[in-house]
Amino acid sequence: MTYRPELIGGHLALDLVNTVAWRLDPGRTVDRFAELSNVECWLLAAGVITDGAVVTRRLCDDLVAARDIAYDVLASLANGQLPDPAPIDALQGLIVEVVRSASVEVSPFEWRADDPGGAVRLAVWRLFEDEDLSRLRQCGDDGCGWLFLDRSKNGSRRWCSSADCGNRARARRHYERTRDGSRP
Ligand SMILES: [Zn+2]
Repeated sequence: MTYRPELIGGHLALDLVNTVAWRLDPGRTVDRFAELSNVECWLLAAGVITDGAVVTRRLCDDLVAARDIAYDVLASLANGQLPDPAPIDALQGLIVEVVRSASVEVSPFEWRADDPGGAVRLAVWRLFEDEDLSRLRQCGDDGCGWLFLDRSKNGSRRWCSSADCGNRARARRHYERTRDGSRP
């Protein structure tokens, strides 16, 4: 089946993290980046590469490494917990490397990467630097695990997607209500 990336995180770095589906349900977990063709689909959909770019196993490995480092820290933050020291160390290492390998554009001033892996790692750095992480949420579904920035006015977004996890939760509530109602 063709992989159609769902870019619902509100930030490239979160869409990267969300390339693992059902992360909190080990029996169902799917790593979309297990297939190189999916990595290409994702990079295209996210606007990191254009058609015809070569996606190597090395690039894929770099993306997976950055993704998993980012997830460990972000999942803790999204749940109001302090991240463990090891993930923080790993994130710091990633950011140092990002800055070291970035080039600098001066008019206007901008950090830039010349390769897709660098561009995505820069996005991870920018997420931590630029975004209000008090808006970071993890989907309310028990198994989903996707992360997003809640940009709603009243900060009430609970689901990665109201059509997907949100809809399933509504259906479940409805089922439970009608089942309870039918009891004698
Ligand atoms: Zn979800």
